[in-house]
Amino acid sequence: MNPIKIALGDLRHETVGRHSSLMPVGIGYIASYALSKIGQDALEIRLYNNPDKLTKDINNWKPKIIGLSNYCWNTELSSLVFEYTKRIIPDVISIAGGPEFPREHGKCRAYLAKRSMIDFYVYGEGESAFANLVTKIREGGSIHDLKLFPQEGIMSIHPEKDVLVVGEPLPRIMDLDKIPSPFLNGIMDSWFNGFYSPTIETIRGCPFSCGFCRAGLPTYNRLAMFSMNRLKDELAYIAKKIHKYPAVPLALYDSNFGMFEHDEEVADCIRRLQDEYKWPNSIIVSTGKKNYKRILNIASRLRNVLQVAVSVQSLNPKTLDIIKRENIPMDQYKVIQKKLKERGLLSTAELIMPLPEETKRSYFKGIKSVIEAGVKRITPYTTMMLKGTYLDSNECRTKYNMKTKYRILPLQFGEYIGEKCFEIEEVCVATNTMSYGEYLECREFAFVSSLFSCLQFDVILKLVEEMEIDIHEYFLYFWELIKTCNSRREDYCNNFVKETEEELWDSPEEIYVHFEKKDNYNMLLKREVGDNLIKKYTTKVILESFIPFVELAFVAIRKHTDQRNTTIIGILNAIMRWMISLRNVNALFSNKADIYQEEILHLSFDANGWYLNEDLNKQLADFDIPCSYRIFYAKNELKDILQVSDKLHGDKIKLHAGKLLNQWGANKFWRNCEKFCIHS
Ligand code: SF4
Repeated sequence: MNPIKIALGDLRHETVGRHSSLMPVGIGYIASYALSKIGQDALEIRLYNNPDKLTKDINNWKPKIIGLSNYCWNTELSSLVFEYTKRIIPDVISIAGGPEFPREHGKCRAYLAKRSMIDFYVYGEGESAFANLVTKIREGGSIHDLKLFPQEGIMSIHPEKDVLVVGEPLPRIMDLDKIPSPFLNGIMDSWFNGFYSPTIETIRGCPFSCGFCRAGLPTYNRLAMFSMNRLKDELAYIAKKIHKYPAVPLALYDSNFGMFEHDEEVADCIRRLQDEYKWPNSIIVSTGKKNYKRILNIASRLRNVLQVAVSVQSLNPKTLDIIKRENIPMDQYKVIQKKLKERGLLSTAELIMPLPEETKRSYFKGIKSVIEAGVKRITPYTTMMLKGTYLDSNECRTKYNMKTKYRILPLQFGEYIGEKCFEIEEVCVATNTMSYGEYLECREFAFVSSLFSCLQFDVILKLVEEMEIDIHEYFLYFWELIKTCNSRREDYCNNFVKETEEELWDSPEEIYVHFEKKDNYNMLLKREVGDNLIKKYTTKVILESFIPFVELAFVAIRKHTDQRNTTIIGILNAIMRWMISLRNVNALFSNKADIYQEEILHLSFDANGWYLNEDLNKQLADFDIPCSYRIFYAKNELKDILQVSDKLHGDKIKLHAGKLLNQWGANKFWRNCEKFCIHS
């Protein structure tokens, strides 16, 4: 018997930048397991993440089975490719799987009825259900016959009765070593080309039950692990192959890395690779929500290349109770922030809004608490109604009167096989405790808070902290200033709110009708719309209005200062001049020749010395010494970056400044500062 041809895809949009550079290891595990159960000679499996490559192969190679993953960022794309495949190969068997699928059976039926191009949906863990179904197909099972009876771990629509057929749930694989490694058997080899981050799962499951997250479902609460021997072999294999690309990060699929003893062993193993191969130099992973002592210890062992995120999502006790979210107590939270700071690690906190029972007041209070605890970067999110979660349930929607709208997932769209495709998310914009107007206000304030948590403005935060100004009061005052100062700065906030409203639609169909029109689609391509607005407006401020924003930030600081104290006013002026001189990246993006410019800056205060100081005993006044600096660009490094960028994007640097900032970080384009004499 000829081997069955199977195309497995974890598709990603790349229309305006790549959605993800992680290797599609999820389909690697599915392939590896199916091959081990059914036989190497029985199957011919190809893996894809590029939709164009897959559609080309559908024409030429003609698979018998196509299996595609469904995440919120690729559901529409998968549906489009399923539909296309059915047109080209009418008897192809299409199998979808992944978390972007409802839980309530009525909704599951509606979902599949709307997507008749999907024959079978694997609704839980993928490996066993997929392998069992393929076995039956190999034994001669047709789509029609297989749909007549429940298939374990699978849902489908009965071909005659038109009802949902739900197969019994399959037990999860608790000994993950039963899934042979797709690295060690070579399945993932073609992804080691420097464009993808090696990605491996270390633990499967999450002991928490957050109501906004699919991983919080009871079926996923028990932890399943790969053995240490298996992980050691995989990591060693990966390091040998990838270390020639030292900048490529390692990604670990683990919802709570660092929380368990097992993770210490994983960390030790990775550390040995760092010593031997000088890789990995950065690690992408979600860190745990408990046992921070262990997490910090692990971060140290890993040379602090791990970003420790201490997310809270909400700090309102009523909300936390409803969404079953356990945050660590605030006193411990503060200790962690302090420890992160001592280690020079960036601390971040995510906040989701609006959640049930959250009010404008409790949300503002939450932001205040995390800032006061020392968090350096706030990442605010609008609540996504992810399918299958508690938030998505009819009960939650009705009880908290959750009003929802639809918007394009930032940059997740494209045109394939002649058709436009948009990934669309449903978001909550009002509840019975937060009106739509309050939601907009919270978004705006969150934008201001997150703007200041960007590295470009860290001088302001350092100053506010050292001058013991209440940071939350400071943000509120700055926000008021922006809204009342009647200038371009005000426009940014107004436009931010305007776009926040304009990106929302009443239905996915409206989005399609609007963006399928050529002019509107071009706006997406040019990133004029459809972007992450907080990111977009932060970049706009840095590129278009940096100086006025800095000036306004200092106005707000002076407001909290004794105006008669001429020393401190002089110090503030010096720091502002130094900050503008070094960080106004727009000068370079307006004229590349600026790279050759040098400048001498005379100040009455050693702003650079103060900024770099790590001695906690030294204060602002200790740097009140006249100083002169040579200000210059890191010419050679920047020339290389600009040359590559000219090749990739064209030589009009201003047009792709945003891309460069996102790719390299604004600090790459700051000017350097060298003290050349101290006045006596
Ligand atoms: S801890 Fe993280 S992965 Fe686990 S349920 Fe909560 S949000 Fe999801």
